[in-house]
Amino acid sequence: MATIKAIEGRSVHQIQSGQVIVDLVSVVKELVENSLDAGATSVEIRFKNQGLDSIEVQDNGKGIPPEDFDTVALKHYTSKLSTYEDLTSLDTFGFRGEALSSLCALSKFYITTARTEDGAVGRKLEFEISGKLKSNSVVSAQKGTTVSVEDLFCNLPVRRKELEKNVKREYNKVIAHLHAYACISVGVRFAVTNQMPKAKKMTVFSTKSNATTKENITNVFGAKTLVALLKLELRLEMEPSSGPSTQSARNWSTQTSDRSRKVQVQGYISKPVFGEGRQAPDRQMFFVNSRPCGLPQVTKAVNEVYRSFNVSQMPFVFANLVMDTNAYDVNVSPDKRSIMLHDQTALLESLKASLTELFEQTEQTVPLQSR
Ligand code: ADP
Ligand code: MG
Repeated sequence: MATIKAIEGRSVHQIQSGQVIVDLVSVVKELVENSLDAGATSVEIRFKNQGLDSIEVQDNGKGIPPEDFDTVALKHYTSKLSTYEDLTSLDTFGFRGEALSSLCALSKFYITTARTEDGAVGRKLEFEISGKLKSNSVVSAQKGTTVSVEDLFCNLPVRRKELEKNVKREYNKVIAHLHAYACISVGVRFAVTNQMPKAKKMTVFSTKSNATTKENITNVFGAKTLVALLKLELRLEMEPSSGPSTQSARNWSTQTSDRSRKVQVQGYISKPVFGEGRQAPDRQMFFVNSRPCGLPQVTKAVNEVYRSFNVSQMPFVFANLVMDTNAYDVNVSPDKRSIMLHDQTALLESLKASLTELFEQTEQTVPLQSR
C-alpha cells in the first residue's frame, strides 16, 4: 500500500491558516485592510483585554452583498483578483482570499453587514471552521461591515499561551501598525479603543476623515513631533543595472518601462539637528504606494545616512515609496508582510545619495566626518 497520502482537507486548512494569521498584528492588519479595500471613510477598532478577549473592526464601507454570503469566508474566494496576472496591477491590499477563512479556523468569528444607508436591517453571518456559512440572521446594523474575532487561537493551545504571555508587547505592536495605517489613510477616520476587564472603555487614539497626512501625524504623535520634522520629497532615478546576467533579468529589463526606474519618496523625517526630534525607533513607518510594509534594507539605509549626521538619536521616519506596480512583488509570504523590491540595490544607492543631499542642504547641518 502506498505510504504517501494527501492530507485531509480540513487539516490542510488549519495548518495553512496559522501561517496567514500568525499573531494579533495579522488579525488587525487583515481586517483593517479589508475595511479600506471596501472604501470605508471610518474604521473603528475595538479591543477587549488588548485583543485577548475580542477584536472588533467596524467600517462604513460598501458592505457584503447577499449573493456573497456563502463564499465570503471560503478559502481563496476573493472579489479582488481572479488571475495571477492581476497581481502586477493590484490596487487593493487583499488578493488571496485567505484572511477570513483563516480566522474562521482560529477563533470564534462572525460578521455583521448592511448595504444600505437607511439600514437598520443588516445580517449577522456565522461560519463553520471550514468557512462554510452556518447561519444568517437579521439584526439591526448601520451601513458597512463589522467583523468580530473572539478568543483568538482558542484551538491552538501553544499559540494561545504565547499570546497570553506576550499580549502587552503584541498589543503595542498592533497599535504601532495602526498608527501607520491611520496616518497614511487620508480621507479615513480611525478610532481605536480598548477595554480592560472590569474597567471603562478607553480611547487609544483617533484621527479625522478630513485631515491631511501632516494633521494625522500631529494627531497621532503630537504637535511636538512635527516641529522637529523635515518634509521628504525625493525623486530617485535608478541607473539601469549594467549587464543583466540571467535570462529572467534580461526579460525584466526589456519589459521595464522608464516609469519603473523612477521612485518618489514622500513623507517626513527628523531634522538631523542635535537635541531635536528625539524619537523612539518604533516611530519609523515605511510604505510602498501607501501600503504599510516592513522594508528592512530601506530602513537600514535611512538610519545609516541619518547616523552620519547625528549619532545620538534615531530619526522619526514616515516614508511612502511611490513606484510603478511592476517594480515590486507583494506575494512573498502568506501573511503578506514582506514586499520584494526589484532592483533594490540601485534604489538604496539612489536613496542614500538623495537623503544625504537633503540633510546637507538643511541649515546648521554638517556631516560628522567634515566637522
Ligand atoms: P481578500 O481581502 O484577499 O479578498 P479576505 O478573506 O480578507 O480576502 O476577504 C474575502 C472577501 O470578503 C473580500 O474579497 C471582500 O469581497 C469581502 N470582505 C471582507 N471584508 C470586508 C469588508 N470589511 N467590507 C466589505 N467586504 C468585505
Ligand atoms: Mg483581505
